[in-house]
Amino acid sequence: MKKIAILGSTGSIGTQTLEIVRENKDLEVLGIAARSNIRLLEQQIREFSPKLAAVWSEEKAKELRTMIADTDTKVVSGMDGLLQVSAMEDTEILVTAIVGMIGIRPTIEAIRAGKDIALANKETLVTAGHLIMPLAKEHQVKILPVDSEHSAIFQCLQGNEGNRIHKILLTASGGPFRGKKQEDLLEVQVEDALRHPNWSMGPKITIDSSTMINKGLEVIEAKWLFDVDVDQVQVVVQPRSIIHSMVEYEDGAVMAQLGTPDMKLPIQYALYYPERRHLGGDRLDFWKLRSITFEEPDMDTFYGLKLAYIAGRRGGSLPTVFNAANELAVQQFLRKEIKYLEIMEIIEDCIRAHKVIEDPSLDEILKTEQETYERINSRR
Ligand code: NAD
Ligand code: MG
Repeated sequence: MKKIAILGSTGSIGTQTLEIVRENKDLEVLGIAARSNIRLLEQQIREFSPKLAAVWSEEKAKELRTMIADTDTKVVSGMDGLLQVSAMEDTEILVTAIVGMIGIRPTIEAIRAGKDIALANKETLVTAGHLIMPLAKEHQVKILPVDSEHSAIFQCLQGNEGNRIHKILLTASGGPFRGKKQEDLLEVQVEDALRHPNWSMGPKITIDSSTMINKGLEVIEAKWLFDVDVDQVQVVVQPRSIIHSMVEYEDGAVMAQLGTPDMKLPIQYALYYPERRHLGGDRLDFWKLRSITFEEPDMDTFYGLKLAYIAGRRGGSLPTVFNAANELAVQQFLRKEIKYLEIMEIIEDCIRAHKVIEDPSLDEILKTEQETYERINSRR
């Protein structure tokens, strides 16, 4: 039995992880955590009988306790609850499918407790990669990428251990606004931005994909996962999401990983690494596919991607500012409090105003996050 816990079990990655558990009898879920969807948590508790379930608000946790009083699952709440699920005694792997840099502390807690991390929660690596990666090394735990591009890169590295990566080719769909210019984006509504051409994902990452800020976060994520400079990561737009990313080696050989767009493959690969298990679903048919096309990203229109390179290159606390500003701006856009293009304006403003802290501690990262939020809130 492989025992796992899932942070963000009610989300897009979380529910797909549970679908994999359903298909594989040798996976057991000991802990789950979510923010507020206690109806779905109740169903998950009844189906998977975890020992522990964490809900963010104590009020909702109370409600859930009543709902599942007839089961053996213990309900915990708040950051303390998340930390408990992260470091449960018998789990081997923690799937971090929570959204945002709120995942930093739970990820650190799990690594300290010796858990391998199946990492979907990219915001944690973007902001605290300099703390997470050395800590994982120290505790000899694996950071197994779930993000499809990073899983692809990871798969392209297998069998090539010891060889230097010359370049990472990070593929991007370009999102729903590919080909548009700034003036076409002035009136973008939440509903337009939530329409992703290839992937069905949670709301935050779907907005991030439309602005290409998701790709910016992924450039920084790749820097930490694969120990490269951000300038070794080249973004390649490939609208149909068939090639999930590529690695170019010193001799010019390029390895790619291809497949239909299905997050279950990278999730399952992380859970069973290095084993490959059967996975149902559509397969690529190259006779029908016929062609795969490539483009350069438009970093003038989608300048959030350019800002990510600036933040990633400079490092220190600047990626935290980039990420925190984006997190709050996206929330405000989703609540229809700001316009679409303001997301990028807000990030640029916060980056310009910030005085970089070199090698920030966890406290300094969280303080920078708060200061970034305060700056944004004081605009209004
Ligand atoms: P989602 O919005 O669908 O789900 C987020 C989950 O996190 C939910 O279960 C929610 O309850 C939980 N959560 C949020 N705040 C919480 C809190 N304070 N306490 C406890 N739980 C909390 O998001 P998603 O699309 O599944 O994305 C999750 C992460 O995976 C993100 O970092 C995203 O960038 C990354 N990712 C997602 C995909 C995808 O296909 N969805 C692909 C690659 C990477
Ligand atoms: Mg991705």
